[in-house]
Amino acid sequence: MWRHGHRFDRTIAAMSTPLRAPRDGSGRFVNWARTVTTRPTAWREPASEAEVAEVVAAAAAAGGRVRVVGAGHSWSAIAAPEDIALTLDGLAGITSVDRERMQVTVAAGTRLRDLNAALDQRGLALPIVGSIAQQSVAGVIGTGTHGSSLVHGNLSSLVESLRLVSGRGEPVSIGGADPRLDGARVHLGALGIVTEVTLRVVPAFRLRETIDNIPLATVAPTLLEIARSAEYVKVWWLPHTKLAQVFRYTRTEEPSSRRPTPITGRWIDDHLLHGGVFPALLAVARRRPAWIPPINRALARVYLDRRPRVAPSALALSTPMPVRHRETEAALPLERSGEAFDRVVHRIDRDGLRVTFPVELRFVRGDSAWMSPAHGADTCQIGAYCSDAPDVDAYFAAFWSELRALGARPHWGKELDHGVDEVRAAYPQADRFRALRDALDPARVFGSAFHTRVLGA
Ligand SMILES: Cc1cc2nc3c(=O)[nH]c(=O)nc-3n(C[C@H](O)[C@H](O)[C@H](O)COP(=O)(O)OP(=O)(O)OC[C@H]3O[C@@H](n4cnc5c(N)ncnc54)[C@H](O)[C@@H]3O)c2cc1C
Repeated sequence: MWRHGHRFDRTIAAMSTPLRAPRDGSGRFVNWARTVTTRPTAWREPASEAEVAEVVAAAAAAGGRVRVVGAGHSWSAIAAPEDIALTLDGLAGITSVDRERMQVTVAAGTRLRDLNAALDQRGLALPIVGSIAQQSVAGVIGTGTHGSSLVHGNLSSLVESLRLVSGRGEPVSIGGADPRLDGARVHLGALGIVTEVTLRVVPAFRLRETIDNIPLATVAPTLLEIARSAEYVKVWWLPHTKLAQVFRYTRTEEPSSRRPTPITGRWIDDHLLHGGVFPALLAVARRRPAWIPPINRALARVYLDRRPRVAPSALALSTPMPVRHRETEAALPLERSGEAFDRVVHRIDRDGLRVTFPVELRFVRGDSAWMSPAHGADTCQIGAYCSDAPDVDAYFAAFWSELRALGARPHWGKELDHGVDEVRAAYPQADRFRALRDALDPARVFGSAFHTRVLGA
């Protein structure tokens, strides 16, 4: 079904293994990070909206609960099924393309990787993508997944309309003029089972990536300037090093680079480095945490000092699938992002925390989605990442103790321990969202322990 236009996309296709629901041999749900495991009572794989409605209606009649599992790429328990687990892997693919409006309609279970390839084949692209493309379309919008650009919003902001099956088992269309659309964009899996999504697209484009090393001390004072210095910009800082990396992506007509050759460049990154070298280094770091600072310094010199390259947008903006690790992420108004970053840097230093992964600063244009971390203002999303090293829990606790004080909002797909009162304080439209949930799912067919904690009973 999918064909691929650019050689980088052929590279992806050549390496791709089929993506399957996050379910182990004994029927348990296990998320990608292996931090959340549940044992659902049953797995269902509907292949049409009518079949989805049947599953929901039957569960509602029996007082049961249903949770859709996308790709299981959330670190939080937002996708953890406690009763019936539903996968929409059978509900995938583009259903229509409207070139006049520049919109495509896709079945909700479509993986981003497949959507990117299918769009490219048609000379189209999403205006923005996140770091990886393994996730499902409905799962991605459900948590406000974002890339990094003050010109483009997160992926939920690309939604023009969607269809879902409500807690009563009824199909509901939510179109562009419907005030509920801003509620449903970042749906948290709490409003219904999304079956179809219409997304805004643009003509396919290529990007040139450049990476500049800048002194760590200059990041905070110049962060707003950095954020606005290209259409797509992100910043990485590998703790225990003195330089930060600014990644900038600008549009170009140049042909895609061979990096160093079309196949081995990506293969080396995906398999040799991320599949072999990095896991081995992290295993060493786990046993000998004192070695983490020198390992980071060596990696920054060898891996992060890269030459410019050109690639189709979806590939330029993505990273190879990383080594399994943990993540938490905080969203702050852009104006407070320098102060927030400084606090994190100083806290790592003050507490002597040994951190194995970069701190990442990404920028997201403000939007109107009620539960979006970028609701109402241009935002900086600061990611704290770490392998399963001895300090990871202390690091995440320190990160949040600094950033809670600045009123940060949590990313729904990353580790978070927020309760409903904090969510209501951080998200000004949370009560509207809770009311929409009451209207679409009064019996809480889509309830879970996670949803009760963040949204209330
Ligand atoms: C390696 C890695 C890199 C990542 N990079 C980024 C990044 O660059 N930017 C970023 O913001 N995030 C990133 N994430 C987080 C990830 O994008 C989000 O957690 C995303 O929501 C996961 O999508 P999924 O398909 O796996 O959804 P899941 O995690 O399976 O589900 C997420 C939520 O959506 C619900 N859901 C799924 N499908 C449906 C449906 N059809 N109807 C109703 N509800 C549904 C689930 O029930 C759950 O509540 C990354 C994650 C990983 C593991």
